[in-house]
Amino acid sequence: MAIQEICAVRANEYLGSGLYRMVIKTEKIAASAACGQFVHLTCGEGNLLRRPISICDADSEAGTLTMLYEVKGDGTAWLAARRAGDKIDVLGPLGHGFDAAKLGARPVLLGGGIGVPPMLLTAKTCAKNSAAVTMIAGARTRDLVVLEPEFSDFDYTVCTDDGSYGVHGFVTDVLREKITGATGVAACGPKPMLKAIAAIAKEAGVPCQVSMEERMGCGIGACLVCACALSAKNGETRYGHVCKDGPVFDAEEVQW
Ligand SMILES: Cc1cc2nc3c(=O)[nH]c(=O)nc-3n(C[C@H](O)[C@H](O)[C@H](O)COP(=O)(O)OP(=O)(O)OC[C@H]3O[C@@H](n4cnc5c(N)ncnc54)[C@H](O)[C@@H]3O)c2cc1C
Repeated sequence: MAIQEICAVRANEYLGSGLYRMVIKTEKIAASAACGQFVHLTCGEGNLLRRPISICDADSEAGTLTMLYEVKGDGTAWLAARRAGDKIDVLGPLGHGFDAAKLGARPVLLGGGIGVPPMLLTAKTCAKNSAAVTMIAGARTRDLVVLEPEFSDFDYTVCTDDGSYGVHGFVTDVLREKITGATGVAACGPKPMLKAIAAIAKEAGVPCQVSMEERMGCGIGACLVCACALSAKNGETRYGHVCKDGPVFDAEEVQW
C-alpha cells in the first residue's frame, strides 16, 4: 500500500551532466519498496502535479531510499536544489514493478540512460533469489554512465552510443550475444530501445518485462494521463494505467 510521508533528504549529490543522486530517510517506504516501483514527489509549491522517480535502491535496515534523476524542467530543478535536512513530500511505493521470481535463475537486465537506476534494486533482488544476474547498461556518452561501481558485483557490460566508454554500440548488440541461456529479460529505458529488446527476446523465446515511462498525473490510477494501449487476451485493445497497472508490463502485452 502506498504511504504518504514527509521525508528528510539525507544527501543530494551532483553526479555531473545534469544528473543527481538523492537519498531520503523513509523507514516505511523503504521497508515495502520492490524493484521497478517508483515514488511520486511533490516538487515545490509551483508544481501542482507530483513527479514520478524510480526507486533505484531501498535499504530497509537504514530506512533509506535512493533515487537518481536528471534535471529536465521545473520539478527536477526544484529537487536538485534540495539540501541535506530539507523535507520532501513522498508518496510510494507506487506501481507494479518487475517480477524477480519470474525472471528465473539467469536473468538479463538492461537499462538505457535514466532507465538504468531501477535496474540496481532489480539486480539486487534477483541476486537475493540466488539468480546469476547479467546487467547491460547503455548511455549516450561516457559522462552519462551511472552506478558502475554498484553493478560491478554482477556480470556487467556498459555500452556507449559514441564509443567513448565500454562497448561501442547499443545494449541490444550485447543482448544478442548474451541471450542464449537467459531465463528472463527485464528492461527500462526509451521506448524504441524497449521495443527492440522485446523483439530480440521474443525471437529467442525468452519472457520479457518492460518498464514503460509515460507522463503522469495522479500516480494512483485515478486520472487517464498515463493511459497506454495493451493487447487483451481476446486480441482487442485495452487501456492500462502506466502508474497503477505498470510501469512494468509483460512485453507481449504492449502494443508497440
Ligand atoms: C514511472 C516513471 C519513473 C521515472 N523514473 C525516473 C528516474 O528514476 N529518474 C529520472 O530522472 N526521471 C524519471 N522519470 C521521468 C521524470 O518523472 C520526469 O523527467 C520528470 O517528471 C520531469 O519533471 P520536470 O518538472 O523536471 O519537467 P517538466 O517540465 O515536467 O518536463 C520537462 C521535459 O521532459 C518531458 N517529460 C516529462 N516527463 C516525462 C516522461 N515521463 N517521459 C518523457 N518525457 C517527459 C516533458 O515533456 C518536457 O519536455 C520517470 C518517469 C516515470 C513515468
